[in-house]
Amino acid sequence: MIEERKEILDKYQLVVGLEVHAQQLTKSKAYAGDKNEYGSLPNSNTSPLTLGHPGTLPRFNRKVVDYAIRIGLATGCELTREMNFARKNYFYADLPKGYQITQDTTPICTGGEVYVKDENGQDKRIGITRIHIEEDAGKSIHDQDPYNTLVDLNRAGVPLLEIVSEPDIRSLEEAYNYLAEIRRLVRYLDICDGNMEEGSLRCDANVSVMLKGATEFGNRCEVKNMNSLRNVQRAIEHEMKRQIHILENGGKIDQETRSFDAITGTTFTLRSKEDAHDYRYFPEPDLQPLVLHDQDIETVKKAMPPLPRELYNKYTEKLGLSEYDANVLIDSKPIALYFEELTAHTKNYKAAANWVMGEIKSYLNQTATSIEKFPIKPTEMAGLIAIIDEDLISNSIATQQVFPKMLENPGRSAKEIAESENLLQQSDDTWLKGIAEEALAAFPDKVQAYKNGNKGLLGLFMGEIMKKSDRKANPKMASEILRKLLEE
Ligand code: ADP
Ligand code: MG
Repeated sequence: MIEERKEILDKYQLVVGLEVHAQQLTKSKAYAGDKNEYGSLPNSNTSPLTLGHPGTLPRFNRKVVDYAIRIGLATGCELTREMNFARKNYFYADLPKGYQITQDTTPICTGGEVYVKDENGQDKRIGITRIHIEEDAGKSIHDQDPYNTLVDLNRAGVPLLEIVSEPDIRSLEEAYNYLAEIRRLVRYLDICDGNMEEGSLRCDANVSVMLKGATEFGNRCEVKNMNSLRNVQRAIEHEMKRQIHILENGGKIDQETRSFDAITGTTFTLRSKEDAHDYRYFPEPDLQPLVLHDQDIETVKKAMPPLPRELYNKYTEKLGLSEYDANVLIDSKPIALYFEELTAHTKNYKAAANWVMGEIKSYLNQTATSIEKFPIKPTEMAGLIAIIDEDLISNSIATQQVFPKMLENPGRSAKEIAESENLLQQSDDTWLKGIAEEALAAFPDKVQAYKNGNKGLLGLFMGEIMKKSDRKANPKMASEILRKLLEE
């Protein structure tokens, strides 16, 4: 790792643009009926079409276009109405056809944006240059045989979306947050599982530096092979310092493609610009141009799932939740969907948020359960919140007694449990008054002290009422009754 002094690093401005490849969650491949499945027996999802045998013809998978429209709408992109497909030619063992079908001059989406937090927690716009449809190559495996490279072609032809950002990213935090936002977005949209370790979401980082205040970007290097958000950040940090080191020593940056080594945390040259591929793009002759009609876009729009940003705005503006609460709730889509359903059945949004972020999340963590398998339905949780709000049970009885019993007895309502377990708060006036009188009778001298001005003794009397009532006295009513008795 190259370490520069802080005052040297501070002279430079980092500039980053990210290219993200997202494997689509379609059932079959982009142009063939083969299964699109991670972890199948190697080379089992490989029809003659995937293998590029002569005489086979690609057939377009409609879902691939729908998914591209989804992300285009979610990022505010312009959708291209008439587009072509192109062959990107190169010779490589994991590419049986010798080319990838991609989009060259007519990407399906252009000119969008996402918003991410910068290092000061402010919203920052990152432009999306384009999103296009592409197909994946197979996978070369170098570490399973000491002499040979093995190849698994199951991945060949799996549909990809390539999402290219503008060089708008200016810090390591922004790069991390941008990628996290893209991952969350594709998960919300159900178009990619976002798993970076398995390679279903991959990211190439284009990195350059320039002196602060400069108007022209420096030469960039493209870094590949990072398999986690954290490693993308590490790779960019190393690359930034490497470039600054070269510039400080009077050198210049050669545009090249580099690879990240996660063990050493450094990057090394894969190929320089001179050996960059000439892909000889030309129009794919076996696919017709694709035309998007208003109707195609409308259909996708109608079926759009809620988006994290929309939910965030709704929670902070309409439901009156704090920014912190809103962020925690939208972080994972299944949690957000549970909360959505819960708020359809209760108006006490703050209580609903507290239950989801508190008791429910800690139950899920402790038992390693996903929210989809959480035993208490949102309607039943709403029932629990309702009986607290109606003062039928206290908050502490709810968390300590009723909630655990609801977990053990799925389907039983909070009210049923509270009734059958004799946990309902007593709000009966005469009964409460009787208990309050008993409590005061036990401390005649303290009552006198209260009347002489020691108002802090109210807590002692309340405690006595709780003890005598088996903690079932309605505390609000009990304290009112106490005060009245003490004023007499
Ligand atoms: P290529 O086809 O060579 O990959 P693109 O025009 O598609 O080139 O750009 C790739 C990425 O590089 C984009 O994400 C863009 O934002 C980014 N980029 C372009 N110039 C710079 C630069 N000077 N510094 C950092 N990133 C850059
Ligand atoms: Mg590139």
